[in-house]
Amino acid sequence: MQLTDIKGIGPKGEKILNRLNIKSINDLVNFYPFRYDIIKRSDITLLQQDDKITIDGTVENNPNVFYINRKLDKMTFRINVGSKICTVIIFNRGFLKSRLTPGLEVTVSGKYDKNHNTIVANEIRFGRIVKAHIDGVYHTVNGINSMGIASYVKEALNNFEFISYIPKTLEKKYNFLNKKDSIYNIHFPENPKVLKEAIKRQIYEELFIFMLEMNYLKNNKMSSQGLVREVDYNLVLKFIKALPFTLTNDQFLAVEAIYNDLTSNKRMNRLLQGDVGSGKTIVAIIALYINYISGYQGALMAPTEILALQHYDNIKKIFSQYDIEVVLLTGKLKAKEKRQIYDKIETQNCVVIGTHALISDNVKYNNLGLVITDEQHRFGVNQRSNLKNKGLIPDILYMSATPIPRTYALTLYGDMEISSIHSMPNGRKEIITKVYKEQEMKCVLENMYSELKQKHQVYVIAPLIEESDKIDLTNVDILNEKMHKAFGKLYKIGVLHGKMSNDDKDKIMDDFKNNIIQILISTTVIEVGVDVKNATMIVIFDAFRFGLSTLHQLRGRVGRNSLQSYCLLISNKDSKRLEILEETSDGFKISEEDFLLRGSGDLFGFKQSGDMTFGVADLKRDYKILLKCKEDSDKFLNSDDYLSDENKYLRKLIEFSTNLD
Ligand code: ADP
Ligand code: MG
Repeated sequence: MQLTDIKGIGPKGEKILNRLNIKSINDLVNFYPFRYDIIKRSDITLLQQDDKITIDGTVENNPNVFYINRKLDKMTFRINVGSKICTVIIFNRGFLKSRLTPGLEVTVSGKYDKNHNTIVANEIRFGRIVKAHIDGVYHTVNGINSMGIASYVKEALNNFEFISYIPKTLEKKYNFLNKKDSIYNIHFPENPKVLKEAIKRQIYEELFIFMLEMNYLKNNKMSSQGLVREVDYNLVLKFIKALPFTLTNDQFLAVEAIYNDLTSNKRMNRLLQGDVGSGKTIVAIIALYINYISGYQGALMAPTEILALQHYDNIKKIFSQYDIEVVLLTGKLKAKEKRQIYDKIETQNCVVIGTHALISDNVKYNNLGLVITDEQHRFGVNQRSNLKNKGLIPDILYMSATPIPRTYALTLYGDMEISSIHSMPNGRKEIITKVYKEQEMKCVLENMYSELKQKHQVYVIAPLIEESDKIDLTNVDILNEKMHKAFGKLYKIGVLHGKMSNDDKDKIMDDFKNNIIQILISTTVIEVGVDVKNATMIVIFDAFRFGLSTLHQLRGRVGRNSLQSYCLLISNKDSKRLEILEETSDGFKISEEDFLLRGSGDLFGFKQSGDMTFGVADLKRDYKILLKCKEDSDKFLNSDDYLSDENKYLRKLIEFSTNLD
């Protein structure tokens, strides 16, 4: 069944859902609310200035819509809530104008500006509040609101076959809800208690599958016999000597370990971790060199097109001196270009750089000896093993800029060797970090100006793309306006976010790299690996919204050469936690803190990071559950239960996604 087979979803609805990355009924059913609102009628007479409000009433007049810019509109209308008439202001709901006719019954939620008798709303629901209940709030894009998504989900659930991936024995042991009730309650909670149980079940299920895959891979590892190679270490030393800089001690140790792995008869399975900017890439390049001169093809896979291109440029520069052919393969290439590259890969020894396109079935490697994945935490287990299976028995190197505490790494990557780069390259100055309140904006802008005046560039980060259901958060549109007001006359400002097409993204990134743009406003899409040396300041709005490790990663966008760099964190909340970043720049220490600080209490909070591909689970927050799942899945895998008919779907899922043969 396809999305359009669902009642109410036509081609237009399908397009909108696609923009939310929902491509199948399964995606839709697993598109969970990111937040829940308790819908209970507020008593407006008891509210103070800026209190939260949810109230129903009738529309008094036809709304006015004012288009602030192409992406931002502001709608106002009056609502009769019984005891009085209030003004409602709401952003980016202009498309609802024609439906909001006088007399219509609606419910609005948001903030009450008592002084002006105005509701600054973030949600309009049609109809009155029948009785108190919980509403799931979904991420949205222009053209659909949260309610619209909810109604699609409701229909999809009616057409869905619920398959539990938790074995019955364990479902019973933990007294979990069944799958169907749990999914229904995640979307349409009966009450807070059941909702909590539902979320817990889904977290467990996701982590159970994840750990089961891990254990399965471990138990069924392909022969650990590696490729046999002979490489003259002097050639490696010569290569290193020819680099424009001297390796740091940790970089050198990592290279040594990799050389030993590659030349031993055991297969390499190594994680190279180190802070952003610590210089992992050059270690990877040396690994590719060692692999190349031993006669094998090498591949490097990056999580985004931007990063793939950046790696490609870097590597090509260095390898051209050695006459080593480097090719770039991304999903964006035209069919003809792709075919040419496929051809090269099939017939020639070359170094292949690319995105997920590297694991597409069309790519036939020729003597693949080494696979490196950058920022590997972004790839799921399936993609990793898929890649593993492409070559003979290639050696594997994972690079990660998320330093994780050692014990935690061992749990996740139990069978992996780890190299860590702790020190930064020489000549780097520590990034000066400071937490500011929103009221101190003037000071922030002055700081920005002082960098811009020195012909440096600045990143500005917002948690959101556009005004959406979370009115309290700064978004790219608002920042764009703010920055234009402050700097638009003097500097070029660019905007980058995940919903832009890849072409547009690359164009903006290029312009920033070439200093055509001086201020880059972005969401966290720039989080991983982007390298612009002339950028010396990053300003992060609503910093409380991010985990410390994410902030630390973002901060690593600057301080990429010997210039003094700055990180300004703007937040009216949570400044104690953020102060840790003022004090230390040791990524390992920060992730340790992150880990300790975040208990399991914030079940209803925002998802903190894009780690792995989980829906509700969060590896850090749910670490305890993860450990349970590790134990449970290990036992399960070694029991007869695993082979029983009852668990055939689970078995199929695991064997398919780890696909070892
Ligand atoms: P990572 O991938 O770990 O985030 P990169 O490999 O992108 O970091 O390195 C960041 C920058 O530091 C790059 O411009 C790189 O050329 C430079 N670099 C790497 N190692 C050294 C070194 N030992 N000395 C000086 N600069 C270095
Ligand atoms: Mg990198």
